Amino acid sequence: MKVQKQPEINIGMIGHVDHGKTTLTKALSGEWTDRHSEEIKRGISIRLGYADVAFYKCPNCEGSVAYSTSKKCPNCGAETDFLRAVSFVDAPGHETLMATMLSGAALMDGALLLVAANERCPQPQTKEHLMALSIIGIDKIVIVQNKIDIVTREQAMQNYKEIKEFVKGTVAENAPIIPVSANRGVNIDLLIEAIEKHIVANVKKDTGLDPIMHVARSFDINSPGTTPDKLRGGVIGGSLMQGKLKVGDEIEVVPGRRVEAAGKVSYERITAKVISLEAGEKSVKEVLPGGLIAIGTELDPSITKSDGLTGRVVGIPGKLPPVVSSFKMKTVLLDRVVGSAADLIVDDIKSNEPLMLSVGTATTVGIVKSAHEGYADVVLKLPVCILPNQRVAISRRISNKWRLIGYGIISQ
Ligand code: GDP
Ligand code: MG
Repeated sequence: MKVQKQPEINIGMIGHVDHGKTTLTKALSGEWTDRHSEEIKRGISIRLGYADVAFYKCPNCEGSVAYSTSKKCPNCGAETDFLRAVSFVDAPGHETLMATMLSGAALMDGALLLVAANERCPQPQTKEHLMALSIIGIDKIVIVQNKIDIVTREQAMQNYKEIKEFVKGTVAENAPIIPVSANRGVNIDLLIEAIEKHIVANVKKDTGLDPIMHVARSFDINSPGTTPDKLRGGVIGGSLMQGKLKVGDEIEVVPGRRVEAAGKVSYERITAKVISLEAGEKSVKEVLPGGLIAIGTELDPSITKSDGLTGRVVGIPGKLPPVVSSFKMKTVLLDRVVGSAADLIVDDIKSNEPLMLSVGTATTVGIVKSAHEGYADVVLKLPVCILPNQRVAISRRISNKWRLIGYGIISQ
């Protein structure tokens, strides 16, 4: 039996609004006592809904019925074995929250794509979210056909055909389609089995490399009026992509702290000592990749308050990839804008246009200085840390909304 209780991987819940992402996250939550300190847990979930879930397997039962989120087998009543904990990141389905969805996607190792069986498939954000996954390069996907309790068998079959047709030629082409009812808890065992086989089994994390963490949120956890002697240092929340971190380690946060003096903006280096760590279940001495973790530091909480460090990257001082404020990228554009009711044609990128660029958990506007033959030179409003082989999601403002139009591969 496994002893590691920290969630091992992060799975995104994606799909159109009202298709059941939040309900399914709840249905999966089962018996898992999450003891993140309340402030941090609430803080992380507000922007990105998030839940740690434990998977168990019955040693006596055969096949799908052996899988559950319960310490007692729902099928035979025997005591189950703990398989692992996983974290679900519940992306907001609303179209105005694509920037949040994209920064959440930076943390996802795989995803569940929810499709409500009682509506035509695809709905606008079904398309847009799947496109976002393929743009960021997430291809470990399980499709969840939800709400099967309110459709007839014929309707379910028709919807299944629509799903198959929709995913043809996409990263989800070979993804299994699991029919469930999230609010009645039907087929949750089949879903866990599919997650184990199609997502968990294919994700490899390298704990031997230097640690790299994407910062999703940062906090000041002191209540107002705390006296200076009781003040606790700044907290940084995010997920480790690789490597390990221990209490006592020195870390660097890049880009550093933004300082504005005499109208000039610069970035001051931030280094800190890890004084506490929280992962999955509780306060720990060491964290591994997977799940959302919180790093307690002695940084001035005014630096970390109100997500002051969201979008930054944490690692070992001096060992982080470069931070840049402009770059040249090869651009790969979609044929059509997805996500809006009318799928407009994507025009070429033009000089001087502002684009929204999502790089890891960071989001910045980039002004195009020049664009030709599938390349664009952009100058960023905010500097970003570029990880090797990282893709940049490109959105353009169309009728007052940022719409995903393609991705960039940084060439310089
Ligand atoms: P989200 O926007 O994707 O997070 O969707 P929610 O989880 O908030 O669900 C939207 C609505 O659909 C809620 O009223 C749920 O109760 C309902 N719902 C979710 N799953 C099911 C299901 O399996 N069957 C039925 N009948 N309703 C569901
Ligand atoms: Mg929801």
